[in-house]
Amino acid sequence: MALLQVRDLTVSFRTSDGLVQAVRGVSFDVQKGRTLGIVGESGSGKTVCTQTLLGLTRGAEVGGTAEFDGQDLLTMTSAQLRRVRGARIAAIFQDPLSSLHPLYRVGWQIVEMIRAHERVSKPAARARAIELLDLVGIPQAASRVDDYPHEFSGGMRQRAMIAMALALNPELIIADEPTTALDATVQAQVIDLLQRLRDEFDSALIIITHDLGVIADMADQVLVMYAGKAVEIADRRTLFYLPHHPYTQGLLESIPGSAGVNEKLRPIPGQPPSLINLPSGCAFHPRCRFVMDRCLTEIPELRTVERGHLSACHLPLDLTGLGSADDSARQQAADAGREKIG
Ligand code: SF4
Repeated sequence: MALLQVRDLTVSFRTSDGLVQAVRGVSFDVQKGRTLGIVGESGSGKTVCTQTLLGLTRGAEVGGTAEFDGQDLLTMTSAQLRRVRGARIAAIFQDPLSSLHPLYRVGWQIVEMIRAHERVSKPAARARAIELLDLVGIPQAASRVDDYPHEFSGGMRQRAMIAMALALNPELIIADEPTTALDATVQAQVIDLLQRLRDEFDSALIIITHDLGVIADMADQVLVMYAGKAVEIADRRTLFYLPHHPYTQGLLESIPGSAGVNEKLRPIPGQPPSLINLPSGCAFHPRCRFVMDRCLTEIPELRTVERGHLSACHLPLDLTGLGSADDSARQQAADAGREKIG
């Protein structure tokens, strides 16, 4: 059984402009020792999805279930959720300063984190903090443990946040854009570190990113989100070699280096829709080069392309792989659709 089973998760916010439908019926599983990558442009709902699991979307209207080791996170009291958060589920964010308080020493913060959940002496917790800082690659951890966050470089702060997240051997780590603010070398080191630690602690990992390069490096299973919905779910290899959904294809074609030497990158035209005023039918239709008549009125459900591979698109299920101008079946669908939307 999966460590985390999310079913039909919906999250909306009432605002003065109307109801923001941030997550619209998303389901996924996360297995122990595996990594689920959640990918999509900003505003796709990927962060709201996981923040809701952590109880961090105050004021939201939430529906569905999120069973973690058999207990529904969405119906837990604040006190129950606080006990789970940190101890069994840890979060790593893009900005380390959102987790590290600038006024307290790094080691002290890790010690407090450990002592908030476990009955251990201060010296024992401090020894564990040094061990963790060493594990994530902070040089001279025994002396740097007393540094303040501003005395660490950006990469070291990110590592310190990972050390803090691992302090209680969590079963599930949620990492939201953990490498976005880092340069390429440090990014590669942090990715390597997260993978190594996941294996060492046998944790499950959810990695949230807009960057398919990070997904290619880390994920076992991938969930592609668009306008609050899951539009494609597949294992990493299938997603990269045999994508079905035109949005996934668009993301893949816009990765630097994906086009041939003489070809230009093909960014996805247009912008993600407003979550208050969603387009009718398939929310991706205003940006889709394969749009057909029915896409304007019928919301596509997730359908099985093959075992473990799901796509929410009206195109025939055997049309997998990157579409191109030479792909006549896709082209016909695209031509028919373009006429309709002008
Ligand atoms: Fe949506 Fe239609 Fe494009 Fe599929 S072909 S992504 S259903 S607009």
